[in-house]
Amino acid sequence: MTTLTRADWEQRARDLKIEGRAYINGEYTASVSNDTFECISPVDGRLLATIASCDAADAQRAVDNARATFDSGVWSRLAPAKRKSTMIRFAGLLKKHAEELALLETLDMGKPISDSLDVDVPGAAQALSWSGEAIDKIYDEVAATPHDQLGLVTREPVGVVAAIVPWNFPLMMACWKLGPALSTGNSVILKPSEKSPLTAIRIAALAVEAGIPAGVLNVLPGYGHTVGKALALHMDVDTLVFTGSTKIAKQLLVYSGESNMKRVWLEAGGKSPNIVFADAPDLQAAAESAAGAIAFNQGEVCTAGSRLLVERSIKDKFLPMVIEALKGWKPGNPLDPATNVGALVDTQQMNTVLSYIEAGHADGAKLVAGGKRTLQETGGTYVEPTIFDGVSNAMKIAQEEIFGPVLSVIAFDSVEEAIQIANDTPYGLAAAVWTANISKAHQTAKALRAGSVWINQYDGGDMTAPFGGFKQSGNGRDKSLHAFDKYTELKATWIKL
Ligand code: NAD
Repeated sequence: MTTLTRADWEQRARDLKIEGRAYINGEYTASVSNDTFECISPVDGRLLATIASCDAADAQRAVDNARATFDSGVWSRLAPAKRKSTMIRFAGLLKKHAEELALLETLDMGKPISDSLDVDVPGAAQALSWSGEAIDKIYDEVAATPHDQLGLVTREPVGVVAAIVPWNFPLMMACWKLGPALSTGNSVILKPSEKSPLTAIRIAALAVEAGIPAGVLNVLPGYGHTVGKALALHMDVDTLVFTGSTKIAKQLLVYSGESNMKRVWLEAGGKSPNIVFADAPDLQAAAESAAGAIAFNQGEVCTAGSRLLVERSIKDKFLPMVIEALKGWKPGNPLDPATNVGALVDTQQMNTVLSYIEAGHADGAKLVAGGKRTLQETGGTYVEPTIFDGVSNAMKIAQEEIFGPVLSVIAFDSVEEAIQIANDTPYGLAAAVWTANISKAHQTAKALRAGSVWINQYDGGDMTAPFGGFKQSGNGRDKSLHAFDKYTELKATWIKL
């Protein structure tokens, strides 16, 4: 919790010095072309900074530096215990600069300052320290070989990792990658979203201050179709890790096939079902949770509970409870610590969300809450949390990821029907089940094709458990020790005795 007031944050925003250059080999630098783009705040539409617009030439510089640093062994061959202490220092510097980073995040992408401070920055720091702490506690293996052989099964860093991340949790998504990628000894090129580059640029210098050698972490701001594509097609990038949309995830697989078959690990979109059975243990808790599941972070959450599946026998009682709970989620100025719904990331995203609301009307769903742009006089991009009732799972608003605060309510009559509707989506990121019946909870959880399933809660989880998707929500996992698989190659060494 912050003790700073909105006026304090506004004053700090005025005083803030924003770095917009790329970071290569331990130094801030303009793009090779000198091109820049404007970073506009969705809070009020004002220009925050001009940002280096990197492209293929910058990608080449960064990859060359990352490769040379990796090959030098200055980080890749450092004792794990030393990498551990450095990663913990890096996490500590994020915490030390928490208010500055939170302010950058809020101004850049519009989320409430309280969330930036209480969720994003601590979550990012935790991802760095948790991975760092683990690295000197993981042992390699000795294979069950014949008597005259010794078989060593060892893990090695992959080399040069490109990490391409989205704008909804810019710092935290970056650190879910940086934690295991750096801890395992790789050199990394981080490409933040063009919609939210500021915190990535800032932490590059903090990494070096923590003692991570120059050239190990490089940051290239710029557009996806320029610098992102250049990294994805680069012949000397060993692994590409990505969080973002399913559309771009598929494109990255093509780039890999067209270039050096780099490993590609994808955390993509979702359209997650939140299933409320009539025997839910606490309908009030379920209603409040359903409201939070679509309104938190303006609905710009990969695991947003965007399809609320309600057993028909309780729908007339339950839906008004959700509508009431959603009234507690009200768009406001993100720099006000009391605000819990901020601005959508930019005008383009706001228009996308409004067009889905239009599609809901056109397909015959019934609007029961929200549905409009709001706070237009601020110059920012705010949309009311919105609920459509009477949605069929075939409608566009039930099939496509909206990535905004728009909830589709779908009724069902049986466990089998709930599971069928829940799985009738190209995605498989997350799902929730509300029931007091433990067998029904387990049976439903087993039948759901999703990487995370929550029982009688929505959106639980921390660094201890893997996170990622089935189906077109991606492959591989962030968080937990499973994330280390992405950043290491497995080697078998046979020794004749
Ligand atoms: P996006 O796919 O548009 O962009 C993601 C990143 O890819 C950005 O940095 C962008 O510049 C880059 N990019 C775009 N085109 C590219 C190209 N041709 N080559 C290389 N890079 C390119 O996604 P977004 O709008 O930034 O983020 C929202 C999406 O992220 C949603 O679909 C959401 O579900 C997903 N997401 C998933 C998770 C998860 O863990 N599964 C977490 C957060 C967000």
